[in-house]
Amino acid sequence: MSELLSLTAADQAERLRAGELGAGELFEFWRDRAQADDLGCYLWVADEAPADAGSLPPVAVKDLFCVEGVPSAAASRILEGYRPPYTATSVANLRRAGAPVLGKTNQDEFAMGSSNENSGFGPVRNPWDRERVPGGSSGGSAAAVAGGRAPWAIGTDTGGSIRQPASLCGIVGLKPTYGAVSRYGMIAFASSLDQCGPLTRDVTDAALMLGILQGRDPCDSTSLGLPDPVELPTAERLDGLRFGAWGLDEEGLDPDVAAVVRTTLGRIEELGGSVQETQLPSAGPGIAAYYVIAPAEASANLARYDGVRYGYRTENFDDLLSMYENTRAEGFGAEVKRRIMIGTYALSSGYYEAYYGTAQKVRTKIAQDFAAAFEQVDFVVTPTSPTVAFELGERTADPLAMYLSDYFTVPMPLAGIPAVSIPCGLSAGLPVGFQIAGPAFSEARILDAAYALERAIGFEGVPVDYVRPDAESSSHDAGPEAPRR
Ligand code: GLN
Repeated sequence: MSELLSLTAADQAERLRAGELGAGELFEFWRDRAQADDLGCYLWVADEAPADAGSLPPVAVKDLFCVEGVPSAAASRILEGYRPPYTATSVANLRRAGAPVLGKTNQDEFAMGSSNENSGFGPVRNPWDRERVPGGSSGGSAAAVAGGRAPWAIGTDTGGSIRQPASLCGIVGLKPTYGAVSRYGMIAFASSLDQCGPLTRDVTDAALMLGILQGRDPCDSTSLGLPDPVELPTAERLDGLRFGAWGLDEEGLDPDVAAVVRTTLGRIEELGGSVQETQLPSAGPGIAAYYVIAPAEASANLARYDGVRYGYRTENFDDLLSMYENTRAEGFGAEVKRRIMIGTYALSSGYYEAYYGTAQKVRTKIAQDFAAAFEQVDFVVTPTSPTVAFELGERTADPLAMYLSDYFTVPMPLAGIPAVSIPCGLSAGLPVGFQIAGPAFSEARILDAAYALERAIGFEGVPVDYVRPDAESSSHDAGPEAPRR
């Protein structure tokens, strides 16, 4: 059975279709793996195979997706105990296509973070090195897929939360165009940026899942879907395609990461593509703009957690106001409070223009930079993360150092465009991610290019932790670190 671990989700679906494998049996295999996880990937694992376990392998779902009757708390103590009365459209679409929910994955609280250390339920460990972070905020989804604890997963990306953990864990992560996938039932962080997307073992699985997720949804007025159905990628060459490289000379980019990325640029040329440098003059201030806009939107979105309607309520209050205040003081973690304060300040009447207004102008400039770049090139390519996975605790005391992890990933959501991260090699034994971004709704072309490159790179790294927990071994107990609810 453990040979299943070497199969992609698409391969497993093929076995189901051929009748070589039963849906219930496949679900049980993955459920055992998820149950035995000792990296902290899961906050909840399904009890049993659903009666309608279907034609696709089960999927691990980031905690912030509402699933009817299942704990869904965006890894926040303030939503502890909340079981939504409805299911997010993305999850419903996956189920309808035949992929049942395997479990809910750990994440940074309300998707605010780059290391998964902001979870209200404990950190996630990177399967490549347990002393390192898996990235964030979709750290549980990324570590589960990379570590053989899930066949595939969904996450969300606001400023990099799919691509950066995919990069740090050595898997594929795709952030679709804003509006390509419904956001109905996603617990909101920053509504003008949030997108749902796949975290998978390879590019084919990402395309397979995107085809299921995408679509217009009457429940989400910001959703449009993609113009065409998503085909599985087949490209083997990159002839005639122009790639614009950005950010390779940035201060703060680890030279070893830069070297692996430059080798990948060489592979693009071997496949017939051309590489030139691209300037995105306003992308540098992207981090500053993002860390005004995202907290501003978060401060509004998080106003609803008042101890009345959802989840946690303090026991310590005298009147309505102290109930609100103490519920929020006890329920939110430090990073969430920091963002609510930044966002509330940036939106206050005296400072609105100076901060939020200016950040919106930078956002427009970044979109214009990409539009200008895409007149010269088909894709903009960058390292996904300036460094490989860092050590647990390394950046928790310095929020600015943590925020800089998102340097290469925030410009794309600010511009609303799609981007994928694929593993492109190792640096000091840890995976390096390569990011390919394209114009809005160019997912099919991005996936084709990523597929050709993936084949040429032939990334075969396997995390040291991949074989654990082994169904045959005794290391089956979840261990004290597993933050299961
Ligand atoms: N790391 C970024 C943040 O902390 C991005 C998070 C995300 O994409 N959800 O906001």
